[in-house]
Amino acid sequence: MTFVVGITGGIGSGKTTVANLFAEKGIDIVDADIIAREVVAPGSEGLRAIIAKFGNEVLSADGTLNRAVLRERIFSNPDDKLWLNSLLHPMIREQMIAQTQQTTSTYCLLVIPLLVENKLNALCQRVLVVDVREETQIARTTRRDDVSEQQVRNILASQATRAQRLSVADDVILNEGDSAALNKDVELLHRRYLAMATQSIESDNEQ
Ligand code: ADP
Repeated sequence: MTFVVGITGGIGSGKTTVANLFAEKGIDIVDADIIAREVVAPGSEGLRAIIAKFGNEVLSADGTLNRAVLRERIFSNPDDKLWLNSLLHPMIREQMIAQTQQTTSTYCLLVIPLLVENKLNALCQRVLVVDVREETQIARTTRRDDVSEQQVRNILASQATRAQRLSVADDVILNEGDSAALNKDVELLHRRYLAMATQSIESDNEQ
């Protein structure tokens, strides 16, 4: 069984930056956001079920899912939101398991922005939280994206709190330093994960 390190953190905390540093070390990355798009891609079972439920008006002209229209539909109808989540969450979960098990590096990284919100820590042997102060999240996100401070604050309010995330963390990277500091933290964790993964492979073989 593949040793899976789940990585999470709020918006702008640095998940993608940290995941890229692990990838540079040859670690395979599985991304929950990509999977969430794949399960509703044109031709998918997920998209077929959504069209059957909501009709063609949830499609864009190019045949892809129009997320804005779908969001509008479920926003005003909690039953529809529940229906959609119970359709997609098991598919996403199944794909996360399948794709992590297909990786070939000594361990793999599973990037799940909403790990805490969706209680997905059971999919991982280890949970790594990228932690920063809210002010840092706001500063970095407004610099990265075309969004206002208030928009970022609204997203922060809809996500888990720092304390909630830290309560499920096995490991924490405090991403308040420069890139040299971040590199050092990743290098240290990488060595520990290699050791843990190797140990877990050995104990699998003994069984
Ligand atoms: P997330 O994937 O969690 O939303 P990102 O990895 O995209 O976060 O990081 C948010 C922004 O902050 C990006 O523009 C990234 O380049 C920048 N960033 C990440 N870590 C640092 C750091 N230690 N110092 C300065 N900027 C950083």
